[in-house]
This record gives sequence, structure tokens and C-alpha cells, in this order.
Amino acid sequence: MKVILLGSGGRESALAWKMKQSPLLEKLYIAPGNGGTDAFGTNVAISPTDFEALAEFVDREGIDLIVAGNEDPLVAGLADFFKAKGGPAVCGPCRAGAALEGSKDFAKRFMEANGIPTACYRSFTADTIEEGYRFLEELKAPYVLKADGLAAGKGVLILPTLDEAKESLREMLSGMFGKSSATVVIEEFLSGIECSVFVLTDGHGGYRVLPVAKDYKRIGEGDTGLNTGGMGAVSPVPFADDTFMEKVRTRIILPTLDGLKREGIDYRGFIFLGLISVEGEPMVIEYNVRMGDPETEAVMLRVDSDLLQLMNAAAHGDLGDLELKENPQTAVTVMMVSGGYPGSYPKGKEITGLDIVSDSIAFHAGTSRGDDGRLVTSGGRVISVSSLGSDIAEALDRSYRSIAGIDFEGKYSRRDIGRDLMKLQGI
Ligand code: ATP
Repeated sequence: MKVILLGSGGRESALAWKMKQSPLLEKLYIAPGNGGTDAFGTNVAISPTDFEALAEFVDREGIDLIVAGNEDPLVAGLADFFKAKGGPAVCGPCRAGAALEGSKDFAKRFMEANGIPTACYRSFTADTIEEGYRFLEELKAPYVLKADGLAAGKGVLILPTLDEAKESLREMLSGMFGKSSATVVIEEFLSGIECSVFVLTDGHGGYRVLPVAKDYKRIGEGDTGLNTGGMGAVSPVPFADDTFMEKVRTRIILPTLDGLKREGIDYRGFIFLGLISVEGEPMVIEYNVRMGDPETEAVMLRVDSDLLQLMNAAAHGDLGDLELKENPQTAVTVMMVSGGYPGSYPKGKEITGLDIVSDSIAFHAGTSRGDDGRLVTSGGRVISVSSLGSDIAEALDRSYRSIAGIDFEGKYSRRDIGRDLMKLQGI
């Protein structure tokens, strides 16, 4: 099978690593890829949202499957474009399905219509701002404000006081995130512990649940400071036990799949459920329409089945009886980031020591090859260091030992990934 994977982050490195292990893989291309994805396939300088350039490439190379790593091309209609062209198959939903991530207002209405547990909410535009103020007055602090559209992970504000919430609502509705915040969702604040559940579905009722993970979003230890794309992840998540997952299945996964079917949405690909456990009851914080980053860099280590075969089957609308086996070990990933991230940071810093990593897998995220072939930093999140172990402590120890040997100027990683889960387990 000839496959093209779209994206350039640590998530795509992990997906490429996993696909490379499949006996079905004949040729893998990554568009555009990064400084490390060429170890698993061939990088191609095509933007994931340039559908015409992609179409020309897939025709020329005889590509059988397109795998969307990130949401942008899906929200822009990647699957619809290739369906109209007559192929190749796409692992990733059509535009209507991608709206689960592309519009928070749509996602909330979808959950409400399908009885899926989520925070109570209302949506407002500039015309209804006064009603927005009144709705805020009815809620308790802290206040959660969300830009309706995509905002590169920055569109959610959590404000401690009513005055700040009103001020932020005014700013958002007057264009703080451009068109993305022309509509703002205000919702009740939920208190609990979060986890990420990934479902692969074929659009015809077939689905498989991948290993559950928990990610760490803030830059600072103890989950403090600014939000990032994600600083680390752990899988499995001890509190997501069989009882919890059965609630997730019956109250969230099945109603989501039924709702998509009822709305006539042919959803073939990954659904990422951002969940919060409120005293053991799962509620949906958000949907995403692709795998998470950095969760994928941990989850892929725990998938013991041929993921390419599964993604291809989902893209063709029939998962059949294919199994998705989980490795019982624990996987962790710890992100090495550039000093200054998520604010401004330097690029082009040489990365050394990757050749001696043996107990872990160093997935490239923000890396590229300089003109002289040297590996340099090219993003905020640089390398995702993933390891397996018999428990969180052992897997973490491996990742942190590997990190000590990898070097670039200004490198930073959080030292407390998984610590909250170990505390829950009494470790
Ligand atoms: P991501 O970068 O994860 O895609 P996003 O911008 O799509 O984020 P959300 O996931 O909806 O936004 O929210 C970001 C974070 O804000 C959540 O992971 C959660 O920690 C917090 N959050 C969102 N909604 C609520 C809520 N109702 N109650 C408490 N915390 C919330």
C-alpha cells in the first residue's frame, strides 16, 4: 500500500513510526514531515491544505491512502475533495464531521441534541453581547469562554472574576481571534481530572477504542503557567478503569456515533474525546477530529496491532473484525521544548545526542535539517521522548535518562509528568 501522511509534528512522527512496522506498507510519504520523519518514509514539500498539489502527487505516485494527522485539512474539506475526485481513500472525516472540532458551537449543539454529558453552555455573537453578560452573571467563577472556531489551541480563556470574564467576552467578540471568535461559547466550569480517549470509526457503526492517555498542557510544573501544545503524556490512565470506560462507551461513544449517523455524517477516522472525570462521571470537554499531540507519541507504543491496516479499513468504511490489541505496559512521553516556548524562542539550534538514545524513542516534532545536513530546532516543541515501562515510574525514568543525553541550547522539559497519577495510585 502506498500512503501519504499529512502533518509535521511529533504526532506524525509517531504515526509514521507505527505505519512503517506494517507489512502492508509499500511506500510512505509525509507531507511536509520534519527533520526525523525521513527515517520512516520520504518527506514531500506539499502543504496539507494545498489539495490541488496533493491531488497531482497522489495521481502521479499511485497513492492508495491519505492519512490526515492534523485538523486543518479536514476542516477545509480534504475528505470531501478526494471523495468527489473518486479517491484515494482518506482516514479522516468529511468537512461536516470535522465541524465537531472546527466549531465549538456545533459540537455543543451536537452533544445537547444527543444527550451527551457536557458542561451547560450558551453561545453569543456581537449582537447578543448583553445577553452574554447576563448569562455570565448567572454562572459561578471561574468563567470559561471559548472562541467558536479554530484558534491554534489558544481560543479558550478561563477567567477568575466576573469583570475579567465580561471584558474578555467583549474583546473576543470584537475580533481577538479574528473570525474564529465571532461566536463565543460560554460554559459552566467543570472541576475534575482530564483524560483523552481516542476512537477509530469506519462511519458504519464499526469502531475501536485506542489506549487512553492523559496529557499535560501547561508549561510549568504542577500544571502552572501558560498553555502549550502539550508537554507530556501518560498511557494508560489509572482512573480510566473498566467502570469508567463502560460509562464512556454507553454515554459518549455510542451516542456520538449514533448522532453522526442521524445527521448523515460519514465519519471515517479518529474521534478524540477530551474528557473530564467529575467524581467518576465522564463529561466531554471537547471533540477533536484527529489524534492528540503528544498523546499519540505515548499511545502508539501501546498499540500492538497493525494500525495501518485498521486505518485503511476505517477509511474504506469497514473495520470488519480487525482487532486492536493493547500492550499492557505503561507508556510515557516527555516533550523537550525550546527555551522561551510558548512565548518567542530561537530556532536553528543544533540538536545532538539522538544517536545514543536506546531505551526510548525520540520522536521528532519541531526539527529540520540545515543546509549542511545538521539537525536543528525549528519549532517550540522539539523532540518527544517516549518510553515503555512496567509502571509510570519506570517509563519516566527511561525518558528522563534519554533526555539527559539529548542536547540543544535552551532545552527545557517538565520534570513532573505523571506525578499526579502516581499520587492517585499512592506512589
Ligand atoms: P486543545 O488545545 O486541547 O485542542 P481547545 O482550544 O480546543 O484545546 P478545549 O480543549 O475546549 O480547547 O479547552 C482547553 C482546556 O481548557 C481543556 O483541556 C480544559 O483544561 C480547560 N477547559 C475547557 N472547558 C472547560 C470547562 N468547561 N471546565 C473546566 N475546564 C475547561
